[in-house]
Amino acid sequence: MRLDKSDIGKIFLCLLAISVMLGLCVQLANGKADSTQTETLPTGRILPAEGDWEMEDHVIQVENGLPSGISDTGESKMVALTFDDGPNVLYTERLLDGLAERDVKVTFFLIGKNAEAHPEIVRRIAEEGHLIGNHTYSHLKLTAGNEAEFLEEINRTGEIISDITGSTPVFCRPPFGVWNTRYEERLGIIPVLWDVDPRDWCTFDTQTVANRILSDCHDSAIILMHDEYETSVEAALLVIDELKQQGYTFVTVDKLLIDP
Ligand SMILES: [Zn+2]
Repeated sequence: MRLDKSDIGKIFLCLLAISVMLGLCVQLANGKADSTQTETLPTGRILPAEGDWEMEDHVIQVENGLPSGISDTGESKMVALTFDDGPNVLYTERLLDGLAERDVKVTFFLIGKNAEAHPEIVRRIAEEGHLIGNHTYSHLKLTAGNEAEFLEEINRTGEIISDITGSTPVFCRPPFGVWNTRYEERLGIIPVLWDVDPRDWCTFDTQTVANRILSDCHDSAIILMHDEYETSVEAALLVIDELKQQGYTFVTVDKLLIDP
């Protein structure tokens, strides 16, 4: 059979059409593959792509590409639990028992008149390796009109704690978080505020307090609590058990505020 120029042209057009169709098929196949491909994270852990998260419960949660509890420097995350307004005759020792069982050290910001009333609890706090801070003598809020009185409350509380434990606190938590930086040098004391507040004084539900802390907790967080409430003590121990599982280490505030 002889082919003329018009036949060759038709064959060429047919081949062109077939190649275009083949190209479309390959693109469609690639598109389908994209919708099911997996994503490799910096840790080398492979997670299912978006839309395929029924496996979520079986995958360790990843934050910034690293398992929760491990910082980007490869070190364990740290957190400081702090307890204000004690010592409390009903609950502080229960908290101390739970902390000893878990080998966890925390920071207590004591009210001077409570320390004066329960020196045996203050002594135990110090002997068990917790850090003691100053929270004024009568929980006085610093205002413009009571500066001298406020400073006296800090000094008086420092002396009470020193008489019981043999050392004067170098950290204080100003009641209600109200402070004036010019007192730091005059008093030789470092104010410590907080960055996680579970508002443990306004709920009677232990799990609510624990959940608020767990949802806001992060590396180097200082957590504000009060050991004058049973729910706070129970929540603190729950939180310790959970955060330990997440790889957190518990430290006193000096470890977070002062570089070694
Ligand atoms: Zn307080």
